[in-house]
Amino acid sequence: MSEPVRRTRLFGWGGAVSSDADLVVAGTPADVAALFGRAHAEGRTVAMRGAGCAYGDAALNAGGYVLDCSALQAISSFDAANGLVTAEAGVTVRDLWQRGIPHGWWPPVVSGTAMPTVGGILAANIHGKNAFHAGTIANHVDAFTIVLPSGESRRVTRESDAELFHAVPGSFGLLGCVVDATIRLRKVPGGRLSVSVFAPRSLGEMADLFEREREGSDYLVGWIDGFARGESLGRGIVHKATYADGTADPAAAATLSLARQDLPSRVMGIVPKRWMWAFLRPFVNDVGMRAINRAKDIAGSREARRGARYLQSHAAFAFLLDYVPGWKRSYGRGGLIQYQSFVPAAEAVRAHGELIRLAQSAGLPPYLLVYKRHRPEPFLLTHAVDGFSLAMDFRVTAANRERLWALCRRFDEIVTGAGGRIYFAKDATATPAAVRAAWGDAEVERFRSLRRRLDPHGILRSDLGARLGLV
Ligand SMILES: Cc1cc2nc3c(=O)[nH]c(=O)nc-3n(C[C@H](O)[C@H](O)[C@H](O)COP(=O)(O)OP(=O)(O)OC[C@H]3O[C@@H](n4cnc5c(N)ncnc54)[C@H](O)[C@@H]3O)c2cc1C
Repeated sequence: MSEPVRRTRLFGWGGAVSSDADLVVAGTPADVAALFGRAHAEGRTVAMRGAGCAYGDAALNAGGYVLDCSALQAISSFDAANGLVTAEAGVTVRDLWQRGIPHGWWPPVVSGTAMPTVGGILAANIHGKNAFHAGTIANHVDAFTIVLPSGESRRVTRESDAELFHAVPGSFGLLGCVVDATIRLRKVPGGRLSVSVFAPRSLGEMADLFEREREGSDYLVGWIDGFARGESLGRGIVHKATYADGTADPAAAATLSLARQDLPSRVMGIVPKRWMWAFLRPFVNDVGMRAINRAKDIAGSREARRGARYLQSHAAFAFLLDYVPGWKRSYGRGGLIQYQSFVPAAEAVRAHGELIRLAQSAGLPPYLLVYKRHRPEPFLLTHAVDGFSLAMDFRVTAANRERLWALCRRFDEIVTGAGGRIYFAKDATATPAAVRAAWGDAEVERFRSLRRRLDPHGILRSDLGARLGLV
């Protein structure tokens, strides 16, 4: 081990859940097997951790070890001719795009922040704003190396071990530790995207717009005003983006440089972005967020009416949330939780509308809502469905915490009743019953029996796994 064991209070990214664990840093892949052996000998458990971007308790392990994989940072190969990259678990999404873009390659699937690691994105099997055609990241992975609880290191491909290949993505570190992955990057014709803006006036209109536009889009993402009610419930702004080639963007080649991808250092040219969270802090309450949501809707609607179309770098479009570093601090001491649900297309408008109405009538309006389109996936316990996802951010305070958790339990009933699923990367509140309602007993048992086979001594554990009855 490259560092001594440290007893540390670890938090989920949202800051609303935490637990104490013995943090161990893996300096080399060999350290992983060593810690598994040690945990077995001591009768203790291990959870994996990357950049700690899971909102809830997926990378926490109360009283056990947490293995920090973020120091495994080698990109062992990158082929600029075919975009194939092999990267260790701690390599971040940012490292990947920065390596690829000067050669015209962009990660095939990215999260809304560039901080997550290769281990974390595969363990969660992340999706991006192109989920409706590109699916989740595991679709673009040729192979990965996993260290199993026995200490065995196994190189897994679709062909060599179809069962493991389809079970590890989305297993949230409960089957083993991913130490590297080989990912196929996507060729892009230039450094920018051509972005257009739409302003659907209800949730139904938004869903229709996604269905109409997805054929000709590379990325589609919706933002929803969480305070709009009645006929306007679900109104918002949709950004559609397509890769801009030399015809659409005269600077297509020049903008592949790293300097042209960087996000601006000031917000609106005035406020240094490192101070933006403090500037936002007084607005992160119902009154302030109602005003911010309204202002965003008015500004976006104006752009849509003008038929606005502009060029934006890949990094600026993909990682807008990184534009305001530390923005979560504006939520205050209690932090935030995100509830992201995935509902089949036929039921999505009804079920997601019900969630928003319920939150509003409970006096717990979501401050940020994001809408995306997904496709079905062949991975075990996948969060994706052939339908839509709605992500809702809630501020957590000492006064609302209990009501908020109860509200999320009611959300679970609506979502699973509509044939939908939740996403463990964001989850802090679900129950074993909700998981079984979402995936069915048979699929949950398939996962648990694979675990029993790979981890007969129960070395792998996380707070999420224990809370959801997966371990
Ligand atoms: C602002 C923000 C925006 C986001 N946007 C998106 C989005 O658009 N789409 C999306 O899908 N997700 C999104 N996420 C969620 C994020 O991508 C996932 O939670 C991802 O798993 C985080 O990776 P990480 O490296 O931080 O892992 P951690 O948060 O540290 O861990 C996440 C899970 O992966 C496991 N894990 C970590 N490393 C390994 C390893 N080497 N081997 C095995 N298991 C491991 C952990 O045990 C844990 O269960 C977002 C998160 C944030 C904070």
